[in-house]
Parts: sequence; C-alpha cells; structure tokens
Amino acid sequence: MKYISTRGQARELEFDQALLAGLAEDGGLYVPYYWPQFSAHVLAGMAGLPYAELALRVMQPLTGAAIAPDTLKRLIDESYASFDHVAVTPLVQLDHQNWLLELFHGPTLAFKDVALQLVGRLFDHVLTARKERVNILVATSGDTGSAAIHAIRGRDAANIFVLHPKGRTSEIQRRQMTTVLDSNVHNIAIEGTFDDCQNLVKAMFNHAAFRARARLSGMNSINWARVMPQIVYYFHTVLALGGGQRPINFSVPTGNFGDIYAAYAAKRMGLPVHRMLIATNNNDILARTLATGKYTLCEVQPTLSPSMDIQVSSNFERLLYEANSRNADSVRAQMESLPQSGSFTLSPGAHDYITQQFSAYRVDEAATLNEIARTFAETGMQIDPHTAVGRAAARMHTREPGIPMVTLATAHPAKFPEAVEKATGIRPQLPPRYRDLLNLPERCTILANDLASVEAFIEANIQ
Ligand SMILES: *Cc1c(COP(=O)(O)O)cnc(C)c1O
Repeated sequence: MKYISTRGQARELEFDQALLAGLAEDGGLYVPYYWPQFSAHVLAGMAGLPYAELALRVMQPLTGAAIAPDTLKRLIDESYASFDHVAVTPLVQLDHQNWLLELFHGPTLAFKDVALQLVGRLFDHVLTARKERVNILVATSGDTGSAAIHAIRGRDAANIFVLHPKGRTSEIQRRQMTTVLDSNVHNIAIEGTFDDCQNLVKAMFNHAAFRARARLSGMNSINWARVMPQIVYYFHTVLALGGGQRPINFSVPTGNFGDIYAAYAAKRMGLPVHRMLIATNNNDILARTLATGKYTLCEVQPTLSPSMDIQVSSNFERLLYEANSRNADSVRAQMESLPQSGSFTLSPGAHDYITQQFSAYRVDEAATLNEIARTFAETGMQIDPHTAVGRAAARMHTREPGIPMVTLATAHPAKFPEAVEKATGIRPQLPPRYRDLLNLPERCTILANDLASVEAFIEANIQ
C-alpha cells in the first residue's frame, strides 16, 4: 500500500516510511492511496473472530508489503495481550438500543493505548530492522504522554522524552508517567502550561540542527499508524452487534478527530457504519463547522474532559481531503489560509458530503455532569467525563428505530475521579492491577519553560 499526502506535494511512501515520517513534508497528512474493500460476504465470514485475528485481517491490506504478515501478527498479539479484558474492547449494553464500547482496558486506562501499544512495537520493529535509533518527543496534558510512555518503555530502538505542565495533570495521570522507571523513559515537568510544553516541542522540531543531532521523532495523533489500529474496533463492534450486515451508529467523544476519522475509514472499507456523531465539549469547533460550513479557530477553554480541549482538530484535514474528492490543491489552499485568517470555508459540495454522514453536538459542563449522574441512575455504571460527552450527544440525536447506537467509552472513570464523584457521590476505584500506583516511587525532572535548558537536558540523556 502506498500513502499519499492530503496536500499533494510530498513523496508517496510505503507504510513503514509513513510511520516514521508522521507529518508529510508538504505539511499534509498521509492517507492510503485507496481504501481496501471488505464485501458483505467477506464481512460475514469475519464475524466472531478473536480481536487479534480480526485486527490482522483488517490491517494487513493497509500495511501491505512493508511489514511481513507473521511479524504483524506477532506485534498485534503482544499489543493486545497487555489489555486486562480478553475481548480487548468489550461492548456493554445500556438499554434496548444503546451500547458502550469500552476502550479503556489497556495499560493507561484510556483509548489511546489501543493504537499506541501497536505503534510502539511497529516503531521498534522498523527501527531495529534499519539499525536506527530515535528520540521520541511528546508534549502532553495527560493521556497521550502516559500511553506513549507505556508503549516505548524498555524498547531498544527509542528513548522517549515527555513534557507535561507541572502540577496541571491529575495525580493519576502524572503517576502513570512518572512511576515508569525504565532507563529509556524521561519525564520532564515544565514550569508552565500545556501550551508552553507544546511550544517547546514545536520549537525543538523546528530547530533543524538540534532535530538532526538528537534524531527527533514524534508519535502524535496525526500519524497514520495511530489511526489504523482504531479502525479495528469499529469492525469488531459492527460484527458483534449485527454480523456485519446491519447498519450501526457511533457517538465519538472528539478532540483531534482521530478516533471518529477511523470510523469513517472503516465505512470506506465496506463496513455498514451508518451515522457518525461528533461529540464535543465547549471546544466546539467541529459542531460550529457542521452548522455553518465555516471552520473558525477560537481560544481553548479548559473543561472536565481535558483530552478534548483542543483548538485545531488536526485529523479533520483527512476528511476534508475526501469531501473535496481528493483534490489536494483545494485542501492545501484551505489549510494554508488557516494560520493567517483563522478560518476557511467549506465548499457547498464538501459541506453536504460531511453533513450527510456526520452529525455534531456540543455538550457543556453542566450537561456532562448531568449525564454521568443519569447514566449512573439508569444503569449503576460510572462513566468518565469524555464518555459522558459522547452519551449526551447520543441522547441529543433523533432516535433512528432499528439502528443501534454505540457510544465510545474513551477513558476509565477512575482516571477522572473528581468529576465522577461530584456527579454520583461515589469515588470510582482503580482496577486492581493499578491499586499500588499511589505508592510507587516517581522519577521526574523539573525544568523551567526555557528551550535551551530542555535541549541541554535531552542531549545529556541521549545514550
Ligand atoms: C484523546 C482522547 C479523546 C479524543 O480523541 P481524538 O482522536 O483526539 O478525537 C477522547 N477521550 C479521551 C479520554 C482521550 O484521551
């Protein structure tokens, strides 16, 4: 499989090259040259497969010749063995028409593990084969950093440096990062905000001499390899709920648009995904875009669902590319106008294409807490604030009789205990295998919000 850039001016790459590149050289995002097809007949034959086997069938056409099938199988098996539920992404019924898809059974209790556990192993495999080493640099407000650390710890081909804003993550999120003591893991607490961390990371990537000297690499959610493993759980769900023959709706708590774009990709591969609900918190850029046809940047507002507090939904560019019939020139013109004008307008055709398949709902803070309480009253289950945004959006959507609605549960409630306790009166408990997290020793270096100090620390710690 070849990968091409949404902006049309970068080299075509094989899967392994796109994995290491992340962003394309022209600033665009890599997408597969064509969508592999699964016919209704083939889908019917895949129903009931264990998760890892299904994952191999869905991803093999996307990795193509770049990764040998038996290697891919081994990496998938190892990745999902680290989950604490044998179904990997189990479905839980809420009422006669609604289900939750639990994506939080991995090592850091949020859905990012589903992709990053495999991406970490793919990085290690590809780099080892090329006899290369890299230093992965990540800025995090909480979830991405811990998932990336747990994906890279103990691997030979990479070190990881994670910058988080000192004192501004939850204690659980911090400890999931700082209690990992492997020698290739480096936590840096920056005296500043998440934006400061992100600006430091960008500055290091833009500092050409440092970037080359430190052999920097990224793992953020614009990497195609992070989207790909997420396609699998849509197949798993649609096959479990309707044998692949019946249409299913999905409500997806959305930030950077990676997770819901994977639903769209599954649909393009032949899966009967019906409507996709973009569930946003107060940071509602996508809800405004669907309503008005205009994508307009705003200030980020902090919310109870911090992993969705974003200003730019980077993966939306991949949908824009398809909505513009893969016309890279128009995507490039629209994306390049964004930094100067702070907005761009969708063509009428692209706007229609998107609203025919997607609906978007904004869920504010009060509605988020209310949803946690209501789900608890109705089912006895505690859901985290991100999942609650998804559930509330599903309720706002007009019922479509006969079409099941699946809401993605993107984090375990114990990762956000304050909001859940506030709404339900009961503090959610960590699963047994994480109970000693609060007693483990931590290792972390505190640095000022200063580029030179951070670069010096990284250079001193590269083996
Ligand atoms: C990252 C994250 C999201 C948002 O996913 P995107 O792919 O960025 O849209 C939602 N919920 C949780 C818990 C997350 O960590």
